[in-house]
Amino acid sequence: MFDAALVSTLRSAIDELRAEDLGALSDEALGADLDELERASRALDAERGRRLVEFERRRAFAADGHLSTAAWLAHRQGLSRSTAEGRVRRARSLAEMPAVARAFGQGEVSGSAVQVLSVAQEAAPEAFAHSEPALLEAARWMSFGELRRVVDTWRIAADPERAMQDEDRRFERRYLNAFPAVDGMVRVDGELDAETGATLISALRAVVDVESRTSTTADARTPTQRRADALGEVCRQWLGSLERPTVAGERPNVVVTMDVSALAAHAGEARLEDVGAVTAATARQLACDANVSRVITRGASEPLELGRRTKVVPAPLRRAVAVRDRGCRFPGCGRPPGWSDAHHVRHWADGGETSLGNLVLLCRPHHRAIHRGFGVAMVDGRPRFTRPDGTPIADRGPPAA
Ligand SMILES: [Zn+2]
Ligand SMILES: [Zn+2]
Repeated sequence: MFDAALVSTLRSAIDELRAEDLGALSDEALGADLDELERASRALDAERGRRLVEFERRRAFAADGHLSTAAWLAHRQGLSRSTAEGRVRRARSLAEMPAVARAFGQGEVSGSAVQVLSVAQEAAPEAFAHSEPALLEAARWMSFGELRRVVDTWRIAADPERAMQDEDRRFERRYLNAFPAVDGMVRVDGELDAETGATLISALRAVVDVESRTSTTADARTPTQRRADALGEVCRQWLGSLERPTVAGERPNVVVTMDVSALAAHAGEARLEDVGAVTAATARQLACDANVSRVITRGASEPLELGRRTKVVPAPLRRAVAVRDRGCRFPGCGRPPGWSDAHHVRHWADGGETSLGNLVLLCRPHHRAIHRGFGVAMVDGRPRFTRPDGTPIADRGPPAA
């Protein structure tokens, strides 16, 4: 038991830390403090684990009417059930790995490393007992990523059959949800099997790579925003490809319903099927030239183009725009035509013509920017771009062929 003297030593050490003026510490000293605190908390964690295992062995939780150590811990210490279960699990696996537990208690290996090792221990307990010293040595010196690779390889070699069963079990766990949330966003969450996950990652990376190779301007988007846009690009290109299958005789597509007078008046709203209402500005952008099926209505709800996939810009004209512009024409951009929309400089809802002279190729982020305050006008057959405040943006013209 923590006797009174031990408890008061621990507490007074913590009080001393608390009293320290952090502003007076050098960066180096602050870093060294963080290292020391990590070591101390690993040691405390190991001691908690030892006590938890003993508590469980005695089934002491039953005295308070609980059914498990985790339930007792969650109730008594106000923890979430998953945190309590995680602590008990770690304590149990440390008890099965004596050398690892010693090293953890001395602060030599991290909690993350212990977790990786415990997965291996559970997968092949006997082989693990043999390999514990070698794996522990790896945990001491390797980065977390390297350790995981080494342990994965070890685990598969130690018990190939079990490794395959594990893999099959994980495969069954795959799922994906995409559903509209109340705030107008679409929530995506899921877990993918290794192969599908690797496919997704390489597709997203390919999109991001192509974008950064073709664009010469700094990208204001965060990496996570870029991945979200990349996913949209992958799906859009799939929906736009000619080989994709038809469902009930129609090519699956995004459907938007909008009112033509609202479109012209920059007012009202449009509805994206499966998601909900979008603003007039977004509706104008979607109606400009996007691969969506449009249902244009007039007034109440008299459909003009019922469910038919209507291309505002016919394919040959679009190709002509692509040949002329070679990519997004926003100054400094140049993303390839496949990733771009043909924007109506004067919107067709305002009487603009769908002709070469009134179209300019814009990538999706820039097309969105133009419909959100940036401006573009045709001057002597060349697009001239302006900022939302009306000042011109310098343009060196399209990139050399
Ligand atoms: Zn547009
Ligand atoms: Zn662009």
